[in-house]
Parts: sequence; structure tokens; C-alpha cells
Amino acid sequence: MVEGGLRPAWAAVEFGFGLLRSEVGDGRLTGVDEGAIEASLAAAERELSTAGMPDLRTLGFWRAVAAVKRRPELVDRYARRIATIDRTVFRRRVRLAFPVALGVVLLDLGLFGGLLLLVVATVVDHPLREIIVIVAAGAIDVTTHGLAHVAVGTFVGIDFTDWFFDLPKRPQPGFKIDYASYLRASPRQRAWMHAAGAVATKLVPFLVMPYALAIGAETWAILALLALGVVQILFDLLYSVRASDWKKFRREMRLAR
Ligand SMILES: [Zn+2]
Repeated sequence: MVEGGLRPAWAAVEFGFGLLRSEVGDGRLTGVDEGAIEASLAAAERELSTAGMPDLRTLGFWRAVAAVKRRPELVDRYARRIATIDRTVFRRRVRLAFPVALGVVLLDLGLFGGLLLLVVATVVDHPLREIIVIVAAGAIDVTTHGLAHVAVGTFVGIDFTDWFFDLPKRPQPGFKIDYASYLRASPRQRAWMHAAGAVATKLVPFLVMPYALAIGAETWAILALLALGVVQILFDLLYSVRASDWKKFRREMRLAR
């Protein structure tokens, strides 16, 4: 369909001009002209009015979102439209989406199960004690990640709309943010909401380690916990700083300055 093909291209052209204008206007790149934001959002909405799946990046949607973040005075005007577009695309793309409450309940059960195992470990013999401690650490590690995002997000006023699995792209479940409340939070609040999951996961092995020592777990189990902690930190340094939670943390922190 030619119409559908030309519209995103035209939106991109309009967006380019908007960028140029704002650059020429005050001599430096401070943001994108409101006309360009408007054009990008309208293009996304037009695409969504059909059954299709718009490519938000090509339509300039994420550049428009970045522009709104740089100009907080525009947040009220655009937050709801941005959130609606973001959510509609999410609902069309991700099939395994569940209520947030279900995710919180299941993760809480997993977390308390892990804590309970730590208690159980004190009354069983070697090597079952060590195995149970490691399984418990794994359960706490996996479950605290998403819960930490939700806890800090809720604390700073960021809402979540779904608990989802985006298979096969990411094996672990995630919580979908409501983009309107996300935009209304400050960049620093958004940054720490992203960091919370990563920080929680990184801390768990190092918190379980002294406990394992205290209950007399054998050295190999302590070393296994240490290895888990170190591997996770290495993974963050090599991967997450470029692609995941820490990338988003840095993106938002740049706006906070
Ligand atoms: Zn995360």
C-alpha cells in the first residue's frame, strides 16, 4: 500500500525539518520542534488505526518521546497520547501479557519460598543444606528483580500496566510501565526505577553469603554464591550497560543533569 508507505517517510522528513529548525533557532540542539513531535505522534496513530504494526522508530516516535523528556513543559500535553501509542503497540506485539497483580503475587510467592528455604537449610544435613541455600539464592535473585522495579516505580509514582513474557526475545518476565506516569516522573526517579532491578539482583548473592557462612554451609557453596555474584556483575558490565537496565539508567541520568 503506497499510502501507508509514504506517510511514515513523510513523517520522517517533517521530523528532520523540525530538528533542523530547533537547531537553527537557538544555535544548539536543545530539542525538537513541537510540530515534529505532533507529526510523529499523528503518523503513529494513523498506522495504529489500521490493524498493522507500526515501526515506531522509523516513524520518529522515540525521538519525539526523547524530545518531550527534554522539555518537561510538554509532558502534560503529550504524556497520554504517547502512553496510548506505546501501550497499543505493546498489546499487539506481546501475546503473553497478564495483570500486574498476578506477577506481583507469583513473584512474592517465589521470594517467600526462597526465604523459607533459607530457614529450612538450617535443619538439614550436608550437602542438602548447601544445595538448598543455592536454590534459595537463585529464587530470591530471580524474583527480586521485577519486584524491585515495581517497588521503586510505585514509590516515585510510576504505574505498571502488565506483567509479560516477551518470548523468545527475553526469557525473563517483565513489568510494562505506563508511559504517561513514566514521563511525569523526574529523570532521576525514572533512572532509579530502572536501576532498582539490577541493583537488587546484584546484591542477593552477597547478602545470602554471610547467612550461608553463619549456618555452617560448606566452602564450595559459599564459592558458588560468590561466583553467581561475580558473574552477574560481569554480565551487567558487558551487556546491561549497553542494552538493558543500566543503559536506561544512564539515558535518564543524562537528562537529570
Ligand atoms: Zn530490569
